[in-house]
Amino acid sequence: VNDQPLQLAAGAGDRIEVTCRINRRARRVGLRIDNATGKAVLVLPSRRALDEGLRFAEAQIEWLRSRLAAVGEPRPFRAGSSFPLEGRTVRIVRGPVTQRNVLLYGSLLFVPPNGDLAARLRRWLRQRSLQRLEARVARHAAVCGVRVGRIGVRDPRTRWGSCTREGDLSFSWRLVLAPPAVLDYVAAHEVAHRRHLNHGPAFWALVERLRPDYETQRDWLRLEGPSLHRYV
Ligand SMILES: [Zn+2]
Repeated sequence: VNDQPLQLAAGAGDRIEVTCRINRRARRVGLRIDNATGKAVLVLPSRRALDEGLRFAEAQIEWLRSRLAAVGEPRPFRAGSSFPLEGRTVRIVRGPVTQRNVLLYGSLLFVPPNGDLAARLRRWLRQRSLQRLEARVARHAAVCGVRVGRIGVRDPRTRWGSCTREGDLSFSWRLVLAPPAVLDYVAAHEVAHRRHLNHGPAFWALVERLRPDYETQRDWLRLEGPSLHRYV
């Protein structure tokens, strides 16, 4: 039973997957959303509580549906699905491009017909993200009169950017999914760390000089940032 995925009928042929987890310290059955996976977890005090747990989960189906929608279920990159690119919604279409590259045409994103679509798309997004970040970092560094080292993109769970003492900058490639002003704010933030390796008043004053509306972008990241992690 433990860690076993169960399908709950959610009406109209719709199904919601719930993972069972036995926790002997739990006093009663309970439902929660795992923020890391975006999935529903049914907690049971013992194996015998499975029937009761399933009845409970089925009675809570509307609550589950609304919670899952708020947290955001994982959204795999696949043909026909949509995701935000630089803040605009684009739809993934397989082909008809014959070259090896991904092609953006209006709101359609053409991906070559063969191979691993998700892997190819992630590579393309990383590259695009790196290009955008390099351009913005170069501009902010020129304004501040600071030198930066290497710039890299990764996929960290919680941080959007970081700056080493040596001046190397690292960013989340997922910033390319956010509106350009948000990506630009993170670039400005890390460049400002080349002057101030802290978050003191002088640091924020410099960020504001580079990006006067930085508070709006910072709030956007706090609110909407976690949802960018559901695109896989
Ligand atoms: Zn910082």
